[in-house]
Amino acid sequence: MSIRRSFVLTAGAAVLSLSGLVPGTAIAAPITATTVCVSDAQAAEFKDLVTQARGIWNGAEKNVQLSNCSGGIKVIAKDKLPGGSYYTGDGHGHGTVYLDRSQIAQVYGLRLVTHEIGHGLGLGDTYDGPCSDLMSGGRNSEGAACRNAQPSAAERAEVDQRWANGYGAPQQRDSFTAVYAG
Ligand SMILES: [Zn+2]
Repeated sequence: MSIRRSFVLTAGAAVLSLSGLVPGTAIAAPITATTVCVSDAQAAEFKDLVTQARGIWNGAEKNVQLSNCSGGIKVIAKDKLPGGSYYTGDGHGHGTVYLDRSQIAQVYGLRLVTHEIGHGLGLGDTYDGPCSDLMSGGRNSEGAACRNAQPSAAERAEVDQRWANGYGAPQQRDSFTAVYAG
């Protein structure tokens, strides 16, 4: 009996130790990443950009991974949109990204697509930030010359935190629409 009791205490101590190392993920942290569908079925000539953007996010995150499937975020190419490219949805794995062809021709397209998918993962805009921040979008310190398509360390961490419980509570963001300001 004393052996079993000793084992239980040891296991408990190990769990506490892990929790202390990873603040904010101690409650119901998933063993495997949550898959979010990002479909390029309607992305037309931007399919390759969507594939690359999924790859960037998959390399950046542990708790969420993106796949080309339906039921999540749709990426749809449009000729021209009044306010430019934008995302609309719940900011938690569902919604639609509209890509404005006339706008993409003027900016670094991969940054724009990765940015819009970032909204679908829960990130908001941080206009007027540095080029090194993906979510500063088109209104960053270098403008259209910015060719960074990678999320910053802080942005990566925020996404992983928002997906620490998968689709479970708490939902991180109300429904919103975010335009890629140029
Ligand atoms: Zn945006």
